[in-house]
Amino acid sequence: MNDDFFQHPFRFPKNAAGPFYTTGVPSTEPDENGNCEWDGNCLWCGAPEAEAPDLFFPFDDESYRDTYFIRQPETPEETEQAIMAAKVCCAFAVRYGGHDRSIIERLDNAPELCDYISVEGELRLTVADDGEFLPFATKIVKQNQAEWRRQHKKWWQFWL
Ligand code: SF4
Repeated sequence: MNDDFFQHPFRFPKNAAGPFYTTGVPSTEPDENGNCEWDGNCLWCGAPEAEAPDLFFPFDDESYRDTYFIRQPETPEETEQAIMAAKVCCAFAVRYGGHDRSIIERLDNAPELCDYISVEGELRLTVADDGEFLPFATKIVKQNQAEWRRQHKKWWQFWL
């Protein structure tokens, strides 16, 4: 197991150790041991699970639950599945915290999906200690959002 990956402060605790993970937020106050309950940011629509069915906690439609990795990808095919799972998550709650440049490139070198991105050839961390984007990453995210709006706006959406 490659344990050289960023420990995002909002990493959902149930994720298997490794660079791919989902995010969440604490939902209770910490107890005397500092433990608390968490809610996942990606919930139960099944889209990430459909892309990587062997990597995520199995989806069933009988109960509400969170989306998280039960193991990390072990083959190129599974890595591609994990990448696609990140790409289909509409809340950017499936992320990659590793340093593999080919994976980061497949994830569009986007801070929305990657804890490290390539900037002028150097890998740079996109996330601050509090889980917010660093200023340079915020700028890239805003540029990406503007580009997305430009590509997707309809002729009558003059305000976008
Ligand atoms: S965040 Fe998006 S992909 Fe995840 S459960 Fe919600 S709708 Fe589905």
